Amino acid sequence: MGYDQGLIVGHVDEELLCPICADVLEEPMQSSSCEHAFCRFCIEKWIQEKQICPVDRSDLLPIHLIPVSRLMRNMLARLRIKCSFAENGCTALMPLGEYRDHVASCQNNPKVVVLCNRGCGMRVPRDEMSRHNCVFELREQLQDQVNEISELREMQAHQERRLSEHRRELELVQYYVAALRSTNPVIRNVGDQLDRYSLMRWGRTLPLATVRTWGSLISTPDTPMHMMVREGLRSSGCPMHLVNVLMDCCYEDSWPEGLATLEMRRLNLHRLAQFVTRLLPVVITGKPCAVILGGDNAHMPENLRPVLGVIMIFVDGVEPVPSDPAPMPDGDYL
Ligand SMILES: [Zn+2]
Ligand SMILES: [Zn+2]
Ligand SMILES: [Zn+2]
Ligand SMILES: [Zn+2]
Repeated sequence: MGYDQGLIVGHVDEELLCPICADVLEEPMQSSSCEHAFCRFCIEKWIQEKQICPVDRSDLLPIHLIPVSRLMRNMLARLRIKCSFAENGCTALMPLGEYRDHVASCQNNPKVVVLCNRGCGMRVPRDEMSRHNCVFELREQLQDQVNEISELREMQAHQERRLSEHRRELELVQYYVAALRSTNPVIRNVGDQLDRYSLMRWGRTLPLATVRTWGSLISTPDTPMHMMVREGLRSSGCPMHLVNVLMDCCYEDSWPEGLATLEMRRLNLHRLAQFVTRLLPVVITGKPCAVILGGDNAHMPENLRPVLGVIMIFVDGVEPVPSDPAPMPDGDYL
């Protein structure tokens, strides 16, 4: 290292030169025994090879290196150095300590990076600017991004495959639990809780709705309607093993006693508005389908409260409530 002697303005004392690089001392260090001074960089590199002073061959270990005297530091501080791009037109003159930073950012340094002024927004070394081609560079950048996007897509596809595998595994576990439930009352109880919980998790994703006209309720849907409801349940993410359970609950004869006949519904009409009702996606079902879940309706009297949930198809008169402020009350159904 060291500062180029040729750039120093005026005379340089010989004792300010590094015996290793022959330039002006940079970050000078001296041997505590023989007092010979060197650039820190030069002597540290030297010591890695030989542990002797390069001038008089006396012993020299890293612990022997100390900062040079104040006198020498003052002499170095008085020196002024020109910019190494003086030939390119730089007129700066500075103390040694400012030299490295200046050169790195000197506007006459051909390697200084500047912003392309033709609008591509790239930063280019000044001396490469004449060869710089915005379109070419941008095309390369674009290609990099295209590659990156396709890598991300691949990753996403991989994650989706894994997710669907997990879903499939979960379904199998749910079928397994369903099979166990039929034989073991403890597992039946846990299974019922799990069903209520997963139904509510799904239910929470559906918008709340208001039923305006209970009179337009279809109490015994035909097969095409049945199919639409199934599609609505599946595509809205209803847990697979519960789709059939809910499907069975879209006829009045499977509804709670207080809803099971026209007469009973008329009798309870004043209570029906108290139901917390959710809406299946109308685009898929064609007709508004309300979902009334047990977990949402713990406040209803027993003869109106569904165990898991019921589906009600209406001709019209069901509207989504703009937003759903109620948090999911975990404790109520677990
Ligand atoms: Zn040196
Ligand atoms: Zn020495
Ligand atoms: Zn300069
Ligand atoms: Zn450009």
